Amino acid sequence: MRAVVFRAYGPPGVLDLTSLPIPEPGPGEVRIRVRACAVNHLDLDLRAGKARMPITLPHVLGREAAGTVDAIGPGVSGVAPGERVLAAPIVPCGRCNACQAGDDNLCPHAQMPGIQMPGGYAEYLVFPARGLLRLPAALSFEAAAATPISFGTAWRMLVTIAAVRPGETVLVTGAGGGLGSAAVQVAALRGAQIIAAAGSDQKLDYARACGAFAGINYRETDLAVEVLRLTGGRGVDVAVEHIGGDILRATLACMATKGRLITGGGHGGEVVPLDVIPFFRKELSLLGSRSQRREELETVLRLVGEGALVPHIDRVLPLEAAAEAHALLEARSVIGKVVLIP
Ligand SMILES: [Zn+2]
Repeated sequence: MRAVVFRAYGPPGVLDLTSLPIPEPGPGEVRIRVRACAVNHLDLDLRAGKARMPITLPHVLGREAAGTVDAIGPGVSGVAPGERVLAAPIVPCGRCNACQAGDDNLCPHAQMPGIQMPGGYAEYLVFPARGLLRLPAALSFEAAAATPISFGTAWRMLVTIAAVRPGETVLVTGAGGGLGSAAVQVAALRGAQIIAAAGSDQKLDYARACGAFAGINYRETDLAVEVLRLTGGRGVDVAVEHIGGDILRATLACMATKGRLITGGGHGGEVVPLDVIPFFRKELSLLGSRSQRREELETVLRLVGEGALVPHIDRVLPLEAAAEAHALLEARSVIGKVVLIP
């Protein structure tokens, strides 16, 4: 089968289109004929050797793969060849304390395609049957692959963790990216008033099209000053923040009394100074959010299938253009997702 592998950490050029044996599904597994696989920023970090995650080289990337079931391993029931499926980006063990408590997104033994096992940058993917999600009939493979991490994470941050209510004001940072634009859409679906923040006017235009009433370019404008101006000095009730560093620091200054700031990423800086005085005087909450649970994935897949949420696909490229896709993401020149077609 055709697959893109890398044998050493490095720049996008280390990604190599090669031929690998078609894998056979073992007990409890199925083989998926991959029809679409989205590219994630984590893929770039894994390729560069910066992700601090356990991968073995050579490695096949690909966290979000959709396709059709092609072969069934021993002991698998309830799924048939030809079914259209998404491979969940996280497959919890189902047995540990976290899983038993329903915290499957926190399972320390979870298997993740493209990290501990080969991912979707290949024609075929062998995958645990219990990690499959059926695709709604109306959902294309490209849209399905572009959905789970961005919309599943946005749903977890805004609905499960922040419990955002209609009429609340929500600030979304990095609003032109996959997660940010998904968060704008989820917040709009929940009836919130959204302020988008991003580093380019083009990305802000897209965030407005997703439902934001205002956009702030934080490369040109002071984020907190502008948020306070837009909210009449009150600040925002909820902030979805996934950049960290100076952006998280500025977001802390944007919060209204009893505001909830949800953090889900720290590419822009992992250690952030915190002024505790406004924090306790305003009874602010800083809440962490990690990946997504199966029920959240099922919810967003259904909503995308119904057209209530719409993943924005910047472009669709053939598998052999994986290095080009990585270079595009590294240049921050894409809005929404890039999807590879093996
Ligand atoms: Zn577990």
